Amino acid sequence: MRAFCKIEGHYRKPYAWVCTNPACENTRISCSKCLTVQHRGCLGFMLHIEDIENPNFLSNSNWIHNKEVKEAVALLKKYNLGTSKEQFLQAFEDVVNHEFNEIVKFFNEKLNEKKEVIIKQFKEAILAENLNIVDFENEVNRIYDKISFMSILNSFQREEKELDSFNSELTTFFNNTNNMKSQLSKLEVMAKNLKTFTKKYLVVDSTLFSEFKESISFDIFNRYSPFTANWTWAPEQKSAKITLCENNLKVKKLDNSQGYTGVLGNTKMSEGVYQWEISASTGNGEHNWISFGITTPNQNFEKMDFNNTCSMSTKGQAYYMTRIRELADYDEKVYLCELDMNKRAFTISYKGKVLCKHQGQLKEDAYYPFVILYQQGNSVTLKIIK
Ligand SMILES: [Zn+2]
Ligand SMILES: [Zn+2]
Repeated sequence: MRAFCKIEGHYRKPYAWVCTNPACENTRISCSKCLTVQHRGCLGFMLHIEDIENPNFLSNSNWIHNKEVKEAVALLKKYNLGTSKEQFLQAFEDVVNHEFNEIVKFFNEKLNEKKEVIIKQFKEAILAENLNIVDFENEVNRIYDKISFMSILNSFQREEKELDSFNSELTTFFNNTNNMKSQLSKLEVMAKNLKTFTKKYLVVDSTLFSEFKESISFDIFNRYSPFTANWTWAPEQKSAKITLCENNLKVKKLDNSQGYTGVLGNTKMSEGVYQWEISASTGNGEHNWISFGITTPNQNFEKMDFNNTCSMSTKGQAYYMTRIRELADYDEKVYLCELDMNKRAFTISYKGKVLCKHQGQLKEDAYYPFVILYQQGNSVTLKIIK
C-alpha cells in the first residue's frame, strides 16, 4: 500500500499497519507513528501489511487470538492438510518414513564403523604376518618344473624320441622331483603356513554374524500404537506411607520407615495384552529395593507378600519368574512389563531383552500391576504402553 499518513507530525509515513483490536476506537489503518501514539494498547493486535503475503500469515500473525484456532491453523499448514483423510494418512506415512529412513542411515553408519574397525585390525595383522606367497609359488614352480616337463612331452610329440627313451626320461624327471626331499620338506612347511594363514584370515566365522542378526530385536516397535490403555496407580489401593503424584503415575515413599509397602494399579488385567514401563529410582544406591510386577488382589498394602507375586526387584531377585539375564546394576532403569493374558505369559525386559519371565502359564483369571517401595526416597514412574 502506497498511501501515506496525513496526520500532522507523522511526516507522511506510509500506512503499514492495521489494528485488529476489537476494543480499539482509533483509525485502524496506521503508520509507524500512529502505532506508537494511538495503538499503544494494541501491540498484540497489529498486523503488518507486508506480512499478509506470508504463507504462514494466519498462524503467525496477531489476527487470530484464540489459542486453539491459531494452533490448529498452524498444524494444517505444517502438515499440508486439506480436508481429506487421505492427506492425513499421507502425512502420517511421511512421518514414519522419515523416522525409518533415519534408522537406516544410523544403522549404516554404525555398521560401517564396525566393519572398518574389523578390516583395520585384520589388515594390520595380515601385514604383520611373515608370509611370502611369491616365494611359495616360485618354489612350487621350481620343484614342479612344468617347463622342463613340457619340453620332454613336446619332443615326444614331435616324434624326436622313441617311446622307451621318452618313458625313461619321464621316470627320471619324476624321480628327481621326489628326490628333492629337503627342498620338499621346506616347501611343505611353507604350504602348512599358507594354509593356516588362509584359514585364519579368510574363512569367516559366520556365527558372529548370525548371532548379531539374531540379537536385533524389533520388539520395541510393538509400543508404537495409537491405542493406549489408561490406568494409573490406585489412590485407594496403597500403603499410607506411599504418596502419589504426577496424575497418579508416580509413586514415592516419603516416610522414613522401612517395609514392604505397596500400591496396585487401578486396572484389572484379565484379557488381551498389556505393556507398561516402570522407571525405578531408589534415590540412594544403598537403599536399593523396589519390586514390581503383577499380583492377585486383596493385598495387605502395609506389608505386601512379595514372595507371592510374579515380579522382580531392583536387587535382581525374581519371584515366581525365571531369570534369563542379569544386569550389573538395577537402579535408575526403565523396565518393560508385558502381560499377555491370551498366552497367559508375563515377562520383564530391559532395553528390548528379557530379564525374567514366568515359566508355564499364569493360572489366575486376572492380575493387578503393583510396586513395592521399601525405603524412603524410593520412587517409581509408570508409563502405559499398551
Ligand atoms: Zn500516522
Ligand atoms: Zn488499536
